[in-house]
Amino acid sequence: MRRHRNVKIVATLGPASESYEMIRALHEAGADVFRLNMSHGAHDDIREKHRIIRQVEQDLDSPICILADLQGPKLRVGVFANGEEELEAGASFRLDLDEAEGDATRVCLPHPEIFQALEPGASLLVNDGKIRLRVTDCSPSHATCEVIVGGTISNRKGVNVPDVELPLAALSEKDRKDLEFVCQLGVDWLALSFVQRPEDVAEARALAKGRAAVLSKIEKPSAVKRFDAILDVSDGIMVARGDLGVELPVQNVPPIQKRLVRACRAAAKPVIVATQMLESMIESPVPTRAEVSDVATAIYEGADAIMLSAESAAGGYPVEAVTTMDNVAREVEDDPTYTQIIESSRVAARTTVADGIVAAAREIAETADIKAICCFTQSGTTALLTARERPRVPIIAMTSLRRTARRLALTWGVNCVMTSELDRFKMAVINAARAARAQGYATTDDQIVVTAGVPFNVPGTTNILRVAPCQESLIYAADPS
Ligand code: PGA
Ligand code: MN
Repeated sequence: MRRHRNVKIVATLGPASESYEMIRALHEAGADVFRLNMSHGAHDDIREKHRIIRQVEQDLDSPICILADLQGPKLRVGVFANGEEELEAGASFRLDLDEAEGDATRVCLPHPEIFQALEPGASLLVNDGKIRLRVTDCSPSHATCEVIVGGTISNRKGVNVPDVELPLAALSEKDRKDLEFVCQLGVDWLALSFVQRPEDVAEARALAKGRAAVLSKIEKPSAVKRFDAILDVSDGIMVARGDLGVELPVQNVPPIQKRLVRACRAAAKPVIVATQMLESMIESPVPTRAEVSDVATAIYEGADAIMLSAESAAGGYPVEAVTTMDNVAREVEDDPTYTQIIESSRVAARTTVADGIVAAAREIAETADIKAICCFTQSGTTALLTARERPRVPIIAMTSLRRTARRLALTWGVNCVMTSELDRFKMAVINAARAARAQGYATTDDQIVVTAGVPFNVPGTTNILRVAPCQESLIYAADPS
């Protein structure tokens, strides 16, 4: 489906968005990627959403990307006899391994590894950081804490331990089952929550066995510290501002977001900016000015994608939220300042022939009146490199692999068109010209730039750049062979 913007939109699905009609409406309004949150929903539920997305994809003949977000080692307290308790600042509160129901003085934290790693002075944050505890005394089976900031604590609330690199496996037993389930179902991206180390990513990659690309969610201070090494082994990144803003002071999030977005562009790997982008639209059909500005900022920074969480999963206005993002994106991308910012932060990473070709393709397309850059890609790499250039003209990625088309739906500016398998360059040019015309990017009077690797189907061979007319008789005249 042709979009009139480059940044991509990720919409999380949930109870507010599980019908065929709603999922189709979200895609038509602008959602390029659907996120299935494995923290919620049974496998049957996930299977049904997956089926509907693939049905919409088929009905609209438009590649749709599915991202399965694994819960990861999320810590939670046990349950309370009264369901909830009020913690007062200054009081003492105990966490332990006793599975008995909690009260105002204690509750179970069923994670023995955490007690091993805790030290007096460490902070524990409960319920999205609303409650703050400080460890005064601990053993391998308990931690006594002073309540620093009080509040209501209730059943199974999440716990964050920002100061400590937790000796937790990257993937829980549930995550492993979920991973295998979604890989068999056929998803395009896996998102890993609470990544702490590059080894965590390697572990998931080994289990995914190439069936899905792997995206690391940066939401722990330890992941921020080791970001470069984590980026190296990941196919993409999510700036997961929700947990990041709990684990670190909130004011640290914007500079981290900027740094991560730039690093991902330099590495030619897609980056999603996530969480609370249009939070008020859970309950309101219009966003706040601050939210609009936040969405705009992520786009000005050059993010590949912006994400909706509860806004599309559980809110009252999922379609309006997608439309809002789409409107903001069009406006920002139309602003000359946007072009200026994006072009001044272009990275000069020209080390391979492919780097040189994508740079030249952009240069030529922007110098002459060229309507699109069409790149033939099987692994998707040439499209990723072309997107890194952030050209002013549209990028059409031509591939015979549906999984490549779907994966690339997360990347800035890439429009994917399926082609048959090709063995001759002239046929590639003809296909590219047809696609550019069919998608409305060019007419028979226009020219396009085509890049490809010949021989076809040998990965990493990008070696041809052709400026081609869009009219078939002219293509044949130029190359009668
Ligand atoms: P979550 O991740 O929505 O799965 O918690 C995103 C975030 O923490 O921002
Ligand atoms: Mn999170």
